[in-house]
Amino acid sequence: MTTDEPHAPSDFIRNIIVDDLKQNKNNGRVHTRFPPEPNGYLHIGHAKSICLNFSIASENEGGLCNLRFDDTNPIKEEEEFVESIKEDIRWLGFDWGDRLYYASDYFDELYGYAVQLIKAGKAYVCDLSAQETRNYRGTLTEPGKDSPYRNRSIEENLDLFECMRAGEFEDGACVLRAKIDMASPNLNMRDPVLYRVLRASHHRTGNKWCVYPMYDFTHGQSDSIEGITHSLCTLEFEDHRPLYDWFIDELKIFHPQQIEFARLNLSYTVMSKRMLLELVEGGYVTGWDDPRMPTISGMRRRGYTPGAIRKFCERIGLAKRDSMIDMALLEHGIREDLNRHSPRVMAVLRPLRVVIDNYPEDLVEEMAAVNNPEDPDMGIRKVPFSRVLYIEKDDFREDPPKKFYRLAPGREVRLRYGYFIKCVSVIKDEKTGEVKELHCTYDPETKGGDSPDGRKVKATLHWVSAAHSLEVEVRLYDRLFVKANPTEGKDGPDYKTYLNPDSLQTLTSCRVEPGLADAQPGMRYQFERQGYFCVDSSDSSEGALVFNRTVSLRDSWARIQKAQEQTSGKKKIPFS
Ligand code: ATP
Ligand code: MG
Repeated sequence: MTTDEPHAPSDFIRNIIVDDLKQNKNNGRVHTRFPPEPNGYLHIGHAKSICLNFSIASENEGGLCNLRFDDTNPIKEEEEFVESIKEDIRWLGFDWGDRLYYASDYFDELYGYAVQLIKAGKAYVCDLSAQETRNYRGTLTEPGKDSPYRNRSIEENLDLFECMRAGEFEDGACVLRAKIDMASPNLNMRDPVLYRVLRASHHRTGNKWCVYPMYDFTHGQSDSIEGITHSLCTLEFEDHRPLYDWFIDELKIFHPQQIEFARLNLSYTVMSKRMLLELVEGGYVTGWDDPRMPTISGMRRRGYTPGAIRKFCERIGLAKRDSMIDMALLEHGIREDLNRHSPRVMAVLRPLRVVIDNYPEDLVEEMAAVNNPEDPDMGIRKVPFSRVLYIEKDDFREDPPKKFYRLAPGREVRLRYGYFIKCVSVIKDEKTGEVKELHCTYDPETKGGDSPDGRKVKATLHWVSAAHSLEVEVRLYDRLFVKANPTEGKDGPDYKTYLNPDSLQTLTSCRVEPGLADAQPGMRYQFERQGYFCVDSSDSSEGALVFNRTVSLRDSWARIQKAQEQTSGKKKIPFS
């Protein structure tokens, strides 16, 4: 097991477990499970549940955590999702050992449970249509009405249920329902459906069944079959707990303890598989692993690290009430981790050509550059310096505003690991006035970045050698939504209204230092002064590298700008 922290965190769930162990409940066993429905890719909310379940198991002597696919809905489930879920859990650093289960493996037992309930007079076959069933159900303020089929005899119910299974009824013609209480204040207890007739091929059981158990009739019993001691789930299942308890008590089987916690909600994104599927199918993103998606596969492709995600899940802790976590907190942790581990390189995203007039035409110098100031063991590398370089367009202003310390006509700046250069002239496009090229001079005495006469410059710029650098594509990602909570307000506009039109910006003529020629998919770097980037795992190839921006660096200029905005009440200044 992998965790970065030597001490396990404490929270209300862990406290319950400590108490249970004190009382030797379940003979001191701690057995959890992560139970995804294979109807989509996992998202960061699932990561919270994965970290919780697997960590609790590993923190307790002999503790175990199962991976179980709750695959009761043949229509929406696919093998592709099963595989992606396994890959994501492994990538997060967790291992279910030989405890991989499928609720569909229990279909025979579940069928047996249904028969057991019928025999006990606790379940009946109901012929009401879906609409009629809804009408009979009542509302939160009014009790429901008993189905006219509620008092069928046990024999008749056994016979009808057998006919359901034998394929003698059309899809939807009838259902098996529990006989509980149509007047219960808890709607889940108003004779819920246990089995339905559905002719659909299941990803594992094929066409063996034409009746399928409902999720609610599967989940709790599956936990029971597996001997799960603590069934940890999200708050929306709190109202289902009485029903799960009812099934388990009526069936007289092992009783796991269900404990609910608040689901993770993250700002500027959505966290429901239904919505994520809609974004994928509607082409709003390029797939489940689009780096803008809150999916684990999207975050992996974007360059997030499993350690940072685990740490985030630990940091946010567990609560009993729903809340929204700020995306900035997740990004903060990603930066923290990447700062420690990623090699620095220089990359120019929007190149501006710089010619150093007094630098010898054929000279190429290898400048020594530090790979990671946070980690001296990462050593140094050589970066070629020559007469024609590229710097960032944004690092030059012909008419520099106050507090802009970078390059400008007549001004001297430092090139990182290079020399001091001074801008002597500017070449512009005659028609558009756009700055095309800068001419500079360099001071040979400042090699490495310091001047022997102690003269200071106010800015240090990154650069690459024009002749040596590699042209690459860079994808800059921003938040997927412009609104912190895009699903707020039931009757408000559709959440898709708030998609950020600028969530992806593709730059195709970027230049990186030549050492990146061997960069492999998934490798992570800090592009100095820009942010953290990784080689895209799908679209990048040798000779045609594509980099994803994982997260930007905190930009001091952006902060100054913000402060200026606040003091002057003015709108954004159009550079930075
Ligand atoms: P969604 O609501 O996004 O469609 P789900 O709850 O239907 O997800 P499941 O596959 O049933 O997805 O979830 C597997 C486990 O992950 C469940 O135990 C569920 O409670 C938990 N889980 C799902 N979403 C979150 C979340 N946002 N935060 C924490 N746990 C979650
Ligand atoms: Mg669910």
